[in-house]
Amino acid sequence: MKSKKYLRIVSQLVFLTLFLFLVYIGNMQLWIVVFIIGVTASIGLGRLYCGWICPMDTLARPINWFKDKLSVGALDVPDILRSKKLRYSIVLIFFGSMVMFKFLGVQLPFPNVLIITVIGVAFLTVFDEELFHKYLCPYGSILSLSSRPSRYMMKVDTDECIGCGRCQSVCPADTIETLDSEEMQIHTKECLTCFSCQDVCPVDCIVYEKKGLTPHS
Ligand code: SF4
Ligand code: SF4
Repeated sequence: MKSKKYLRIVSQLVFLTLFLFLVYIGNMQLWIVVFIIGVTASIGLGRLYCGWICPMDTLARPINWFKDKLSVGALDVPDILRSKKLRYSIVLIFFGSMVMFKFLGVQLPFPNVLIITVIGVAFLTVFDEELFHKYLCPYGSILSLSSRPSRYMMKVDTDECIGCGRCQSVCPADTIETLDSEEMQIHTKECLTCFSCQDVCPVDCIVYEKKGLTPHS
């Protein structure tokens, strides 16, 4: 399990370096290629792009660490920011404007993906991380749709779960729910496939498996 954690950190650092390099040389089209590969992979493997590649998610780790150290609390999120209508309006406006600017030959002073990352970091310093992952990030919204048919997903083996809640406390997308039966359930379309829950589970009952398999079968 630890090896997966370190592998993920290496992956995030490599892709963050690539992202910053592409910003530096002004060639963000290549990052769009990375994103398209992430969307394609998500159809079968879930949102690995979010948990293993996205520079915003990578930057969230040190920001959260500093917030914890400085005891900076998050503001309450206004209901309007948690709306599905707003979420999909952002997707339409964001990708619609990208296409329109391309068609009109308009060159923005900054690439869209960089703008989104800067906005994401700003929100992250003020609100809980899940707000951006689940509602505001247009890339995440696309991935939550494309990953729906995914054959692989994070699952909790409810027979083994002791209900300690550690997984919920580390989940950056706030996507693990306690059911009335006190069992844990992961809402897979919002799951970033980051494996953070698996890293902290004291009884190793969270698995990344094919749909339909019983965990640990
Ligand atoms: S459920 Fe687990 S893998 Fe999915 S986002 Fe939450 S912590 Fe990460
Ligand atoms: S960390 Fe593991 S044992 Fe604890 S509530 Fe989550 S799934 Fe259950």
